[in-house]
Amino acid sequence: MTEQPKPERSILIAEDDLVSRHLLETILGKWGYRVIAVSDGLEALRVLKGDDAPSLAILDWMMPGMEGPEVCRRVRELPQRPYTYIVLLTARTQQGDLLRGLESGADGYLTKPFDAEELRARVHVGERIVNLQNNLLAAREELEFRATHDALTGIWNRGVVLDALQRECSRQAREGGSVGTIMIDLDHFKQVNDTHGHPCGDIVLREIARRLGSCVRPYDTLGRYGGEEFLVVVPSADSVGALRMAERMREAIRATPITTQQGPVRITASLGVAVSGNGQLLNPEALLRLADDALYRAKARGRNCCELAPPVEPEAPASEEQVPAPLRSGSQ
Ligand code: GH3
Ligand code: MG
Ligand code: MG
Ligand code: MG
Repeated sequence: MTEQPKPERSILIAEDDLVSRHLLETILGKWGYRVIAVSDGLEALRVLKGDDAPSLAILDWMMPGMEGPEVCRRVRELPQRPYTYIVLLTARTQQGDLLRGLESGADGYLTKPFDAEELRARVHVGERIVNLQNNLLAAREELEFRATHDALTGIWNRGVVLDALQRECSRQAREGGSVGTIMIDLDHFKQVNDTHGHPCGDIVLREIARRLGSCVRPYDTLGRYGGEEFLVVVPSADSVGALRMAERMREAIRATPITTQQGPVRITASLGVAVSGNGQLLNPEALLRLADDALYRAKARGRNCCELAPPVEPEAPASEEQVPAPLRSGSQ
C-alpha cells in the first residue's frame, strides 16, 4: 500500500516550458513529493484556491494566462487560508525584478537553469515554514476553543451563551419575533458529590451536557452557566415551543440513570423558562431574571419540573383574582 502524502508534501509546479517542467516533476517526485504540474498561471491560481491546495508552490515568472508574481499576489489576498509557501522561478537576474517578485508576496526565488541542491534547500525551508505556520494555526484554534468552551463539558461557556442572548435580544428589537431562554439547575447535585465523590459528579455533568445537547437545534445556544447550571438561548421560540423544549430536556435527564464507575446515578433537574415576544420586549437581564425566578418556583414546587415565567404586566398590577396562575408542566 502506498503511503498517502501529507498536504505539506504536495507541491505545485507551474511552468510553461516543457523541459523545465518535466525536470522539476522528476526531481521532486524522486524526493517523495506529490507533484501537481500545470503550464499556465490561471490554472495555477485555480489549484492554489482549491480545497486540497498544496502548501508549497513553484511558479514560473513568465507564463501564459497570468504571470507568477500576479498569481502570488492573488493567493496572498485570499482570506483565512493556510499558508502557501511560494518560490518564483525566473531566468531574470536583475535585482529590480527579484524585488518586485518578493513584493508580490513570494517567499523566495530560484533562477533558471536551477541547481538541484538549491532547489532542495528552498523546498526544505518552505516545508519548515509551512509546518511552523500549521502549528501556529493549530495553537490559535486551540486557544479559541478554550476561550469559548467549558473545559469540563465541552459545550459553550457562560460568555458565549450570554453573548448569544444579547445578540438575539438585539435582533428581536430590530426585527420582531421572539427569544426564549431556559435555565436548568440539577436537583440535589451536591448529594451526588457527597455520596459518590467529585470525579463522579464531573462525569454526571458531562453526560447531562451531552443529553441537553441532543435536545437543541443547531441554531440554539446551549452553555454551562455555572457549576451545575446550564442556560439555553432559543431564537424565535414562543412560550409553547420553549416550554416543550424544556420538557424534553427534563425528560432526557430524568429518563435513564447515568452510568458511572460508582454505579448508576439517578438525577433530575428543575427548569425555568422565560420568553421575550408577543408584544413584550425584554432585555437580556430581565429575561435571565424571569427565567431564574421561574427556576426558583420549580425548585419550590418540589423539583424535577419546568416553570414558565408569566407575562410581564406593562400597566398597573391587576387585582389579585385577575393575575394568571404561572404556567406549569412536568411532575415529580
Ligand atoms: P438544589 O436542588 O437546590 O439545586 O441542590 P443542589 O445540591 O444541586 O445545589 P447546591 O447549590 O447546594 O449545590 C451545587 C453543587 O454543585 C455544589 C457543587 O460542589 C457542585 N458543583 C458545582 N460545579 C461542579 C463541578 O464542576 N463538578 C462537580 N463535581 N460538582 C460541581
Ligand atoms: Mg515561462
Ligand atoms: Mg445551582
Ligand atoms: Mg442544583
